[in-house]
Amino acid sequence: MSVFHDEVEIEDFEFDEESDTYYYPCPCGDKFEITKEMLEMGEEVATCPSCSLIIRVIYDPEDFDTEEEAASISKVELEVVSK
Ligand SMILES: [Zn+2]
Repeated sequence: MSVFHDEVEIEDFEFDEESDTYYYPCPCGDKFEITKEMLEMGEEVATCPSCSLIIRVIYDPEDFDTEEEAASISKVELEVVSK
């Protein structure tokens, strides 16, 4: 059973660089929204601020994967510790 109103690919969202947020038109006239930060955390539910509908965002987690970056940071930290 799905509670999602729809499933939408991230490519179909409109990205606003100023707010780092992806938008997709909601049937109520407002827009579903999900921030880039939320996607990076693995969140896949975009919500509409004006109604209770939610949609599932279809995207490739690798496009938003920050683990690699985090891993390289901890590597640097390890090098500092070992010195
Ligand atoms: Zn809505």
